Amino acid sequence: MASHMRKLITEDIHGLIKGKHPEQALQEALKYIQSILETMRDPLVVLDDSLMVISANQSFYDIFLVSPEDTEGSLIYELNDRQWDIPKLRELLEEILPKNTSFNDFEIDHDFPGIGRRIMLLNARRIYSEGKKTQRILLGIEDITERKRMEQEVAASEVRYRRLFETAQDGILILDAETAQIEDVNPFLVDMLGYSQHELLGKNLWEIGPVKDIEASQKAFKELQNSEYIRYEDLPLETREGKQIQVEFVSNVYPVNGRKVIQCNIRDVTERKKLEQLKEEFIGMVSHELSSPLTVIAGSLNTLLSEEEQLSRDETHHLLQNATLAADTLSHLLGNLLELSRAQADRLILHTEPIKVDLVFKSAVERITEQYSTHKFVINFPKGLPLLNADPMRLERILYNLLDNARKYSPKGSKIMVFTREEKDQLIIGVSDQGVGIPESDQTMIFKPFERLKPAGFEGAKGAGLGLLVCRRLVEVHGGQIWVESTPGQGSTFFFSLPLSRKV
Ligand code: ADP
Repeated sequence: MASHMRKLITEDIHGLIKGKHPEQALQEALKYIQSILETMRDPLVVLDDSLMVISANQSFYDIFLVSPEDTEGSLIYELNDRQWDIPKLRELLEEILPKNTSFNDFEIDHDFPGIGRRIMLLNARRIYSEGKKTQRILLGIEDITERKRMEQEVAASEVRYRRLFETAQDGILILDAETAQIEDVNPFLVDMLGYSQHELLGKNLWEIGPVKDIEASQKAFKELQNSEYIRYEDLPLETREGKQIQVEFVSNVYPVNGRKVIQCNIRDVTERKKLEQLKEEFIGMVSHELSSPLTVIAGSLNTLLSEEEQLSRDETHHLLQNATLAADTLSHLLGNLLELSRAQADRLILHTEPIKVDLVFKSAVERITEQYSTHKFVINFPKGLPLLNADPMRLERILYNLLDNARKYSPKGSKIMVFTREEKDQLIIGVSDQGVGIPESDQTMIFKPFERLKPAGFEGAKGAGLGLLVCRRLVEVHGGQIWVESTPGQGSTFFFSLPLSRKV
């Protein structure tokens, strides 16, 4: 570039002086050089051998806010309140003439009066005039404040984005948009896939295994090259250990330094998908539970209405009883659902008062006995049970849920017993039945909300699984615990504790 420029200038000057009188030719050449110097945007100063300013270009005066009168004839160190009096610069300048040296890119960072803090790059050369035997120094000054600031900003932003990339809680891949080779991969994705950075860099996605369907991947890549944006809701991937995961995959194409890259953001949605599926299954089960009693109610009422004339008193009574029982079941189920949603939203507020627990429990037993005459419900409470500070409606619900389960999971005619005992500072309430029992492996799972819906969920589950869940939540807000002891084939005993410290 520089040699090209030199050639151009030489040609220009040749053109200007050709056939002219030497004196005129010199004037022309000088005028030409003068005009170049004046159009230069960077300040330029010519110094004599004592480092005095002989001349400076317009840009120097404009940038440093000085006048030619104040500048020409002054020593460079004395200019503008001696702002150029910098020992290192002086050393460099003083060496140029005797040693015929030059210097490039000497950086000064200085607060210049009137123009503020600036960073300048200085370049200096010796100009020797053979004829006059004079030596001069040409000092070029470049203001790089803005460039430096931009560089620093770019560096800071690079650090910021690098940090985002490194700490992102999503997987990020950068691919070459031409070759689809992996250029960068963040630690989160390395963790997610189980492949090291080394194994991933420089490869195509379909070369490394997580993306099994090679043909589909290549097709997707072509599509991405065309549309510049692709999003998959749930793409199956396989980790290095062979674990199947589902990811949300979003890719964009964008230019970097004149070429295109693809950024892929990859989020593991395996758990979210599982939860969504569980939620759907749960809703399905609840709907089923709700529709059974409703069908009974509708069926009974229908029969009553359509066959009003022909029905005997007993038949009418029986239909009404069925409908009432189904309505009770329905309202109980809705009650459980409500408790559950309150607990879920942390809105479960107890209405506690000093209560005689035996009365509350008796009322639950009476209710279930009225509804189901199929079992022998036996109450076995010691005399003089202490008063407890508790929410009577909630206690009744806990006991009712346990009694209802005991009834559901034990043969007709069998005995169901409710008993209490005091233990340390707790009152323990038990409900035992002689039913099917619960395998040991399922005995904790039944109290956990959605566990049982998972593929490994237990066989015995029949209903929506709300009853025990509600029991657990209600017992826990009372400060107690719930558990079961059971031998399959022989029966189960559900226990729950209430702290006696709530005694009044
Ligand atoms: P649901 O009865 O609607 O399934 P629950 O939460 O009340 O919901 O009970 C969860 C599961 O625990 C039941 O499906 C059943 O398999 C088991 N279970 C609960 N109580 C008993 C019991 N007394 N005897 C045997 N199994 C029981």
